[in-house]
Amino acid sequence: MQNKYDYLVVGAGLYGAVFAHEAQKAGKSVLVIDKRENIAGNVYTEKIEGIHVHKYGAHIFHTNNKKVWEYVNQFAEFNRFTNSPVANFHGELYSLPFNMYTFNKMWGVVTPEEAAAKIEEQKKAAGITNPENLEEQAISLVGKDIFEKLIKGYTEKQWGRSCRELPAFIIKRLPVRLTYDNNYFNALYQGIPIGGYTKMVDNMLKGIEVRLGEDYLQQKDEYDSIADRVIYTGAIDAYFNFAIGHLEYRSVRFDTEVLDKPNYQGNAAVNYTDVETPWTRIIEHKWFEFGKDEQGNDLPKTVISREYSSEWKPGDEPYYPVNDEKNGALYSEYKKMADKEDKVVFGGRLGEYRYYDMDAVIASALDMCEKELGV
Ligand code: UDP
Repeated sequence: MQNKYDYLVVGAGLYGAVFAHEAQKAGKSVLVIDKRENIAGNVYTEKIEGIHVHKYGAHIFHTNNKKVWEYVNQFAEFNRFTNSPVANFHGELYSLPFNMYTFNKMWGVVTPEEAAAKIEEQKKAAGITNPENLEEQAISLVGKDIFEKLIKGYTEKQWGRSCRELPAFIIKRLPVRLTYDNNYFNALYQGIPIGGYTKMVDNMLKGIEVRLGEDYLQQKDEYDSIADRVIYTGAIDAYFNFAIGHLEYRSVRFDTEVLDKPNYQGNAAVNYTDVETPWTRIIEHKWFEFGKDEQGNDLPKTVISREYSSEWKPGDEPYYPVNDEKNGALYSEYKKMADKEDKVVFGGRLGEYRYYDMDAVIASALDMCEKELGV
């Protein structure tokens, strides 16, 4: 008997949507399912008071990969948003990422040489030559004062672990520059899809059968029996029913409020970097779309989300893989098991247990399409 579909795609997030789009284009029959009632995974946006609210956390598209940029531009037009978050440490405000404005405010230094000398002095005093964890890496990049005011509290709230236990690569995501430049990303291309991410993913899935509210793992045998191949973008440990243990994830809770004022914080993102404030950051969604001008202030209301980070437990949404040594070792065991599943491809942030940005997810999905579909 012939299967009904060439491909079953589990998860309607970016990885799944890119694959489904390419598979359909290559003439394959595809069914996409998702256990949520919405497409677009964690990039899902929903309109509230005329504002696209990032329901599962702020997503700013940024990339240096021209192929990926051109790829997403087929499905959406992007605005000119540039991410410049502000750090709030007990009411003291600092520019992010770490740049000359930050160094000037912290130390009163004016020239790049003075800033570099200050960082060097603090790095030397801490005696770090070969940084082995996030704390040592941070101090050697920006010095002890910035580590203590802008990194330590934020990171420990975000990850629920000491900066000494966390891998150095996490802090290397952030640029450090000796110029007066508040653009958070070192990326050639950056923006937010006009009309929201949901519309962009909907365009990717045009003409493809999508079933929502369907839990693959609950009816795995049935689903496996209707498709030749499966692209699985859920959590890899859940796929194997946690047979060799749980991988750790961080989860996030969003406390979203509509406020009866046009402008709450004057910026899309404000990070609360002290350890006492219970949330990690507050997102004011309208500023992703409207720029810092009258257009946004003309809307009488605003929508904000406070973000609270917690350790994932069954029933929560997993957001961030905890890519430390212990979890890395467990993941590589799961990966061996996954490699033996010849009918299934594991992909995306949860399927590969990687702290992927959106552009990297798309690049990885496109690579997979090449292998899988020959396109
Ligand atoms: N980080 C920090 N202070 C900040 C912002 C970020 O210490 O104000 C650190 C923190 O450890 C975080 C990492 O930098 O986990 C990466 O930040 P990024 O903004 O890339 O995180 P995401 O937006 O993916 O949550």
